[in-house]
Amino acid sequence: MAEVKDILTGLDRYETFIEKLDKEIEKMDDYRIAIVYTDIKHFKYINDTYGYQRGDMLLREFVNHVLKIDDKLICAARVYSDNIVVATRLDSEYSNNEFRDLIYGRNMELERMLRDNYLDEGLRLSTGISIISKDDRRLDAATAVSNANLARKLAKEMKDDCCVLFDNQMIEGIKKEVEITSSLSSAINNGEFKVYYQPKIDTKDLRLIGAEALVRWQKPNGTFIFPDEFIPFIEQSGQIVDLDYFVYREVFKFIADRINNDEPVVPVSVNVSRVHLSRMGILEYVAELFDEYQIPPQYVEFELTESIYIDNTEKALQLVEGLHDMGVKVSMDDFGSGYSSLNLLSGLPIDIIKLDKVFLKKASANEGRLKENDKIIISCVVDMARRLKITSLCEGVETPEQSDYLAEIGCEIQQGYYFSKPIPQEDFEEFIDAHFNSCSAVV
Ligand code: C2E
Ligand code: CA
Ligand code: CA
Repeated sequence: MAEVKDILTGLDRYETFIEKLDKEIEKMDDYRIAIVYTDIKHFKYINDTYGYQRGDMLLREFVNHVLKIDDKLICAARVYSDNIVVATRLDSEYSNNEFRDLIYGRNMELERMLRDNYLDEGLRLSTGISIISKDDRRLDAATAVSNANLARKLAKEMKDDCCVLFDNQMIEGIKKEVEITSSLSSAINNGEFKVYYQPKIDTKDLRLIGAEALVRWQKPNGTFIFPDEFIPFIEQSGQIVDLDYFVYREVFKFIADRINNDEPVVPVSVNVSRVHLSRMGILEYVAELFDEYQIPPQYVEFELTESIYIDNTEKALQLVEGLHDMGVKVSMDDFGSGYSSLNLLSGLPIDIIKLDKVFLKKASANEGRLKENDKIIISCVVDMARRLKITSLCEGVETPEQSDYLAEIGCEIQQGYYFSKPIPQEDFEEFIDAHFNSCSAVV
C-alpha cells in the first residue's frame, strides 16, 4: 500500500515518522541521531495578514530548506500547522554544540530568504534539538521528539537565540513550572499566600514612613517559596494577575481595618507585574477596591519596574496616568538595573525613584564600603531626582555606613535589612504601634 503523505508539504505523517524513528533508534550503532523541531514564530499572523496561499508557499519553502539539514536524513514530518520535525544521522565530525551552531546559521539564512522573497517584515524561526546516542537506545522516538519540542518552546521564549539544545535539566525546570502553575489557584484559596511588609524609613529622622507589600508562599509543610522562584512562571501563564489582585485586596483591607479601628497607619506600596500592561484591567480593579474599602488614596502606592517602562512606555504611561487620576503615587522600581533609565525620567510623570539594590550590593562585596565611582553615581541620581522634584528612595540598605552615606547625599527614604526584613502583618502591626507610641527613631 502506498505511504500516506502530508498533502501540503509531501512530508511523512507524524505517526509514520515515529514508526521510522523508533526502528532507527533500535538499530542504532556508533553514531548519534539528531531530532530537529522547528516552527515559524507568529505563523498565524502571517496567514491572517498575507493570506493562506502565501502562508502555504512560505511553508513549502521552509520545508525544502529544513530538508537540506543533512544528506543523512532519516525522516521528516509536519506535526501540525507550521511545526516541522526532522530526524537525521549525525556524523562524528560535529559535536552536539557545533551541530546546534550549524542549524542556527541555517535558520538565519532561511529567515533572510523568507523575508526577502515572501514578506516585507521580519520573521523568526524557533528550533529545539535533541540528540540521542547509542547509550540512549532505550529512549523511544515520541520522547525524543517531545524533548526537542520542549527545547523549541524555550527557544521561542528567548529574545535572541532561536536554537536550543535539549538537556535533562530542562525536564526538572518544566516539572517545577507545572507544579507551581497547577497549584496556584488552590494555594490562593487555601491561604498559602501571605503578604509581608517591609518598613520604609525617612532618612531625616529615621522614622517609619511607609512599607512595601511583598508576597510570600508558605506550603502546607511549612517551607517557603520566594517570589523570585515562582513569579517568572506565573507571569508566563498570566496567573500573576490573580496573585497581584489578591495582594492588593489584602493591603486595602489591612489599611481600612486600621483606619476603622483608629490605629496609626502608613502608606503601603504594592508591586505591579508587567503582565498587567497587556490587560489593563488593573485600573478598574483598583477603582473597585477604593470603592469597596473607602480608604484615602495617599495610603497606597504602586511600584512599576524600570523594565516595564522600557518594554512598553506608551502603555506604562497610560497606567501611570490612570493611577494618578485616582490620586495614588507611582514609583519606578529597580531604577538603575536596566539600560536606558535616564531617558525615561524626562518623559514619565513618576513620583518616586527606587534605586535598585545593586548599587549597594557592590558595596557589600567591598567590605561594606562603597567605591568612589558608585558613590558618585548614587549621589548624581539622588541629585537629579531632587531637581526633577521626584522623591528618592534607596533599597537594599544593610549597614549603618550605607544609611549614613544616603543621609549625607540627601536620599529621602531608605529600605533594607538594616531597618527590617519583610515581616508578617501581625509583626508589622506591632512595629507600627511600637513606633508611634514611642515617637523614637527605628534604629
Ligand atoms: P523588589 O520589588 O525589588 O523587592 C525587593 C526585594 O529585595 C524583596 O525580595 C526584599 O525581600 C529584598 N530586600 C529587601 N531589603 C533587602 C536588603 O537589605 N538586602 C537584600 N539583599 N535584599 C533585600 P522578595 O520579597 O524576595 O521579592 C523579590 C521580587 O519579587 C520583588 O523585588 C518583586 O519584583 C517581586 N515581588 C514580590 N512580591 C510581589 C507581588 O506581590 N507582586 C509582584 N508582581 N511582584 C512581587
Ligand atoms: Ca518593589
Ligand atoms: Ca526593587
